[in-house]
Amino acid sequence: MQFKNFKSVDKCTFGRGTFGKLDSILAEKRHENDQFMVFLVDNFFKGKELASKVPAKPEDMLIFVDVDDHEPTTEQVDELRDTILATKGIPAGVVGIGGGSVMDIAKCVALMVKNEGSSQLYQGLNLIKKEGVYHVGIPTLSGTGAEVSMTAVLTGPEKKLGLKCDWTVFNQIILDPELIADAPRNQWFYTGMDTFIHCIESMTGFLKNTFSEAYGYKSLDLCRDVFLNEGCGQTPINDEKLMVASYFGGLSLTYSEVGVCHALSYGMSYVFGTRHCFANCIIFDQLEEYYPEGVHEFREMVKKNNIFIPKNLSKDWTDAEIEKMIDVTLALHHMWNHALGSDWKNIITRQKIKELYLKM
Ligand code: NAD
Ligand code: ZN
Repeated sequence: MQFKNFKSVDKCTFGRGTFGKLDSILAEKRHENDQFMVFLVDNFFKGKELASKVPAKPEDMLIFVDVDDHEPTTEQVDELRDTILATKGIPAGVVGIGGGSVMDIAKCVALMVKNEGSSQLYQGLNLIKKEGVYHVGIPTLSGTGAEVSMTAVLTGPEKKLGLKCDWTVFNQIILDPELIADAPRNQWFYTGMDTFIHCIESMTGFLKNTFSEAYGYKSLDLCRDVFLNEGCGQTPINDEKLMVASYFGGLSLTYSEVGVCHALSYGMSYVFGTRHCFANCIIFDQLEEYYPEGVHEFREMVKKNNIFIPKNLSKDWTDAEIEKMIDVTLALHHMWNHALGSDWKNIITRQKIKELYLKM
């Protein structure tokens, strides 16, 4: 038996136009701490219509966060925390509006305004000492499941690892499909595939169970509607389906684990800074050996949506880079244990991982 006792998001609203309810949702929380809200908004929306609809009051802080050329870092979170504390004190709440990166940054900032020192001290499970402040997640891309997960992934000087604890989970999420409608097609696909891969991995490993399968099957069905079946593509109904698929994919993972693709992906992102969902697509494409049906379906989706997935990248990688990737990936025991079983150390050798990376 696998014992997990996980915390869920406290409140969730779903549907077109629900973003417009944000002001009233925040109203009852505004009196807490130093009585101001922090809105962390993806830089992509600066000057766009969504930014003008953020219900920031004069006492609030509206900060645009740049996640264009790197995944969230411990340094970035520490700087945001220090700026907020120095400018206004402890906020009543933190609202993250963006993709997985900005949502993770919002989760971390909400924790770090109450915890001392650098966020790199808290990369791991249950290392956070004090409950953070109220925090709200509002996705503008769907697929990572960051809106529902109990982790917030940061790259630090030593490792890429999440701040993972019950307090990381959002108190409130707003799933408004209108916000993902204009995502660029490649980004829409890469991020959407993250949930497809989450489900394939959570449902094919040793820790799978009825709970993870129930959410996984439904999420995969929704992914097929969005990316493969008749009527697929970026349409209003598919935006709704993808939002729910991402949420269910996250829940499927909560009671299981990710597998081979994610383990290799962390190595690639750490060494080359490749974005999580993009790295997953590059890697999953080469994992027929582990997930034959999933990879076959993935390739059909790539073709159907005319998406570019790079190949032959490894020809430019040095031995030192490959060795570092192997170090990072081998440290992810929980993923290998789920994917290959308790005997994984005898199955997945450094040489085997190298062969897999060389396929990419
Ligand atoms: P992202 O948040 O990294 O954003 C990717 C790009 O899309 C950025 O340039 C961003 O500015 C832009 N963007 C965001 N919304 C947009 C929109 N509506 N229209 C146009 N552009 C938009 O992308 P992502 O794939 O959602 O998230 C990846 C991140 O999520 C990684 O940092 C990864 O580590 C993290 N992640 C977290 C979890 C978790 O459980 N916490 C799970 C998986 C991945
Ligand atoms: Zn993922």
